[in-house]
Amino acid sequence: MTTKLQAIRGMNDLLAGELPYWQRVEAVARELFADYGYREMRVPLVEHADLFRRSIGEHTDIVEKEMYSFDDRGGDRLSLRPEATAGLVRAAIEHGLLHNQKQRLWTSGPMFRHERPQQGRYRQFHQIDCEALGYAGPDIDAEVIQVSARLWRKLGLEGIRLSVNSLGTPESRRLYRAVLVDYFEARRDALDADSRRRLDSNPLRILDSKNPAMRDVVAGAPRLLDHLDEESRRHFDRFLELLAASGIAADVDPALVRGLDYYTRTVFEWRTTALGAQDAVCSGGRYDGLVEQLGGEPTPAIGWALGIERIVALMQAAGIAAAETAPAVYLVLSGERAEAAGLALAERLRDALPGLGVLANMDGGSFKAQLKRADKSGASVALIVGDDEAARGVATVKWLRTGAEQQAWSWDELPRRLAAAIERGEASGTNDGR
Ligand code: ATP
Ligand code: MG
Repeated sequence: MTTKLQAIRGMNDLLAGELPYWQRVEAVARELFADYGYREMRVPLVEHADLFRRSIGEHTDIVEKEMYSFDDRGGDRLSLRPEATAGLVRAAIEHGLLHNQKQRLWTSGPMFRHERPQQGRYRQFHQIDCEALGYAGPDIDAEVIQVSARLWRKLGLEGIRLSVNSLGTPESRRLYRAVLVDYFEARRDALDADSRRRLDSNPLRILDSKNPAMRDVVAGAPRLLDHLDEESRRHFDRFLELLAASGIAADVDPALVRGLDYYTRTVFEWRTTALGAQDAVCSGGRYDGLVEQLGGEPTPAIGWALGIERIVALMQAAGIAAAETAPAVYLVLSGERAEAAGLALAERLRDALPGLGVLANMDGGSFKAQLKRADKSGASVALIVGDDEAARGVATVKWLRTGAEQQAWSWDELPRRLAAAIERGEASGTNDGR
């Protein structure tokens, strides 16, 4: 007996009908990155597990419980990438991209985290990443946020709010950490088990707790923002000024700490109230220590990642249309002679009118059945070639969406007349849900 094969839980098939949303997000992002001078780069989906341990951090949720790691046949410990920054930075160092150079880069693709699958949270999900390497100032912090803000605008998404915070330098964080541990130690009884464990390993993460019972004790905690070093304070204030100058509203959220170790100074998150519990659609921050930590020269940097699934969900929730474009022309081919002529005719049309979309009927079928397929395809015009038309070198032109009269056009004049019909807006693929 064979068992039915199914996709892995939390890893989604993206069917053709849904893809227009993805393509829209990707196309808009690609165009926008070009407008801002960010160049696309691609890195492997699999890296040494060590890369993520050393960058994201040993005591983070991702590395502690979410990574897909395995030993390959050669005995190397590898991981499916849970995010893109570590791989990009590894590659930038490896290829000397940061020798006396700065880099504005972007990438996109699947990421893998072994989380509990639910709406908006998957085990294979997809991100678009924006990274600026070699830039130290708050101006680039504002620029990468401009990129994301423009992306929401271009996609027609509203109501995504920006939260920002500063995590200071590792040094100011260390000082703050001691203050924070003192505070929580004195209130140990109010902490849940997770937070008690974090008290030793990663006390800042306690601030990030989603447990409602922890809300009060977290709210009363000393704020990192009040313990910033002077330079980080200046950086943060200037960043806020530049955001305001760009017309981007931001909420300062002192509890925003982000779940990755490598962040320094600026961190931010774009949030929505339209997706229930999964409210973060895009998050990022500055990671000034990471390049050096991974073996490169000290290099300041900042980046963000957005989750495409959540953006698509937002578009769908907002009723934003992303239409599949149907081919404009359906070739109805009836008879052996017509079939041979029709395949050649289809090629001629594609040569002459690229982008039009020409669907040739396959596997024969009655005239009526083929016309039904033509209608279902969304095409606006059917070109009918039977053996009689094939002998005469013509096609019967039948407009499927208007009552226009049928005509016979010769193959030679077809491209020109179709082009004219396109000009008049008659021949274009439609998609009204067929
Ligand atoms: P969350 O708080 O929702 O777990 P995160 O802080 O782990 O998010 P990042 O690591 O910063 O998220 O990743 C950036 C973006 O990627 C998130 O804002 C979100 O849109 C998306 N994302 C993260 N994890 C998932 C997932 N498991 N499934 C779908 N999208 C995800
Ligand atoms: Mg997470």
